[in-house]
Amino acid sequence: MAKRDYYEVLGLAKNASPEEIKKNFRNKARDLHPDNKDSGDEAAFKELAEAYEILSDEQKRASYDRYGHEGVKNQSRGFDNVDFSSMAGFGIDDFIEFFFGGGMRTGGRRGGPEQGAHLKYDLEIEFLEAVFGTEKKINIRRLEDCATCEGSGAAPGSTPVTCVACAGMGQVQQVVNSWFGQTMRVIECPTCHGSGQKIDKPCRDCKGEALVRKSREFQLKIPAGIEAGSRLRLTSAGDKGRRGGTFGDLFVIIHVKEHKQFIRDGETIHLRQPISFSMAALGGEMMVPTVDGPRQLKIAAGVQHGTTQMMREMGVPRFNNPSRRGDQVVHLVVETPTKLTSEEKKLLEQLAELRSERLHLSPEELAEIEARKEASAKEAAAATAAKAGAAAKGKHSKKEKEEEKEDSSIIDKIVDAFRPKNGDEAK
Ligand SMILES: [Zn+2]
Ligand SMILES: [Zn+2]
Repeated sequence: MAKRDYYEVLGLAKNASPEEIKKNFRNKARDLHPDNKDSGDEAAFKELAEAYEILSDEQKRASYDRYGHEGVKNQSRGFDNVDFSSMAGFGIDDFIEFFFGGGMRTGGRRGGPEQGAHLKYDLEIEFLEAVFGTEKKINIRRLEDCATCEGSGAAPGSTPVTCVACAGMGQVQQVVNSWFGQTMRVIECPTCHGSGQKIDKPCRDCKGEALVRKSREFQLKIPAGIEAGSRLRLTSAGDKGRRGGTFGDLFVIIHVKEHKQFIRDGETIHLRQPISFSMAALGGEMMVPTVDGPRQLKIAAGVQHGTTQMMREMGVPRFNNPSRRGDQVVHLVVETPTKLTSEEKKLLEQLAELRSERLHLSPEELAEIEARKEASAKEAAAATAAKAGAAAKGKHSKKEKEEEKEDSSIIDKIVDAFRPKNGDEAK
């Protein structure tokens, strides 16, 4: 398939300013970002990212303007193999930083210091740690200047010399055979990788790379009320940039373990609390778990199964304002006793008797049910026979239509029965 014009992808004219390019990229990227459930489109997002990568770089854009896609062939890193699912929780601004470095690229200055890469770290914390906040030590392996060569890449005692291939410029001109005939393009010097220097005796510890991966420990303060999926940013805790560049940042993605008892919904804690039916009928008080430990809860007499009770300010501290707290909602679950002793059984039977509750049907009622069952079995047999006859004729019997009518009127009755009465609604 033919590649779409980059300007068209960004919805811009050829003379668009760098600010317009950035603005349109952000707007479109927000819609197309694979995190966006409504309008996310990974393929279109990758196309957009590629267009932005080329047009946001002054040099690549100039090349594209003159020679089209052919002029920037292999200049995009190609987002095809980027796994966007690992970017979950990243906002679009972070995405831009992650892939394109901080702010707008000025472009055209090869060989200068580069900002180090941002790093991502997944951290799982306990439920209560997320509620009340905590401090964590995290170990990161990141690129730092090699101590042996002090970041020069040259073995101790030797110094890097000017690269002969590019005369220290860090870039060379290359002849390209394209559809437009032979053209020249400027590329990073392949000999020195853009540094403008050549290392005769590479440092043994970093193999001339000047950077080595080192394990570093960082202290991370996690504020109370943090939500699962939140990102915390540790400035300058990422990789060291090449050629004396600054450190990138470290993004810590917070994952929160589930709790055995508590379910969190923002600042609200939900708790399922079983109560006995004696407690439900008589009321009383009991200790229930809260994030602060067990607390007393008063149960009113006659509470129903499924009733909720609020425990004010026993929920999650507000993020960035921990003096305010959410509530705990206790969902009362009335438990029916099982495995009754004979004494318990007797007492419950006595209770039923006192309340004139009938636990069984009378023999007359049972006989009536039997009679009705027999009658309906006969009716069903007759209906099946009638249906078979009607099917043979290819049309519905009158009887069947009547039955349909009856069914729908029964459903109406059921709906009516469960519709709240005027009196109930007022409660
Ligand atoms: Zn070294
Ligand atoms: Zn060079």
